[in-house]
Amino acid sequence: MNAKIKKAIYPGSFDPITFGHLDIIQRSTQLFDEIIVGVLNNQAKHPLFSVQERVDMISELVAGIPGVRVLSFEGLLVDFARQMDATIIIRGLRAVTDFEYEIQIAQTNHVEYEALETVFLTTSLRYSYLSSTIVREIASYHGDITSFVPREIIPLIEQKMMKTA
Ligand code: ADP
Repeated sequence: MNAKIKKAIYPGSFDPITFGHLDIIQRSTQLFDEIIVGVLNNQAKHPLFSVQERVDMISELVAGIPGVRVLSFEGLLVDFARQMDATIIIRGLRAVTDFEYEIQIAQTNHVEYEALETVFLTTSLRYSYLSSTIVREIASYHGDITSFVPREIIPLIEQKMMKTA
């Protein structure tokens, strides 16, 4: 490996962040020098949490992990990567169902920004079923989400569910 700093972006909606995402962040720090968690500001998705709320939540949770920064972005990921001077994108692969979509995005990004490489980390088995959608779904029925997300953010999720009920 050369001496150049390996800066990687881990993009996603993180609505909300789960143990699966945190596992990928933690493992990425073993591979790269700097990880930028890129929180996508996509109003079209009607997120449960605003982008600022997601950035704040994740920032607190990763505060103890050296080399991790949390930023929001909107628009194209390739533009954000250029702006950050990053040439690596990290994505998590849970199952074959993720693969088709992910490979298409990775290849498109590579065409648009040749220096950009996408690295896929396979999910830890214990989180392979886990998604933000599942967390939102269970929380909407006031189910137990303690196995899916850090304790600190559970009250925030519950509050949102009260408001949207
Ligand atoms: P997006 O809307 O971009 O898919 P997500 O927040 O759902 O955003 O996911 C961000 C990234 O984290 C994606 O690469 C996704 O595959 C990965 N990911 C989501 N859930 C898990 C999990 N349980 N384990 C590992 N990776 C995951």
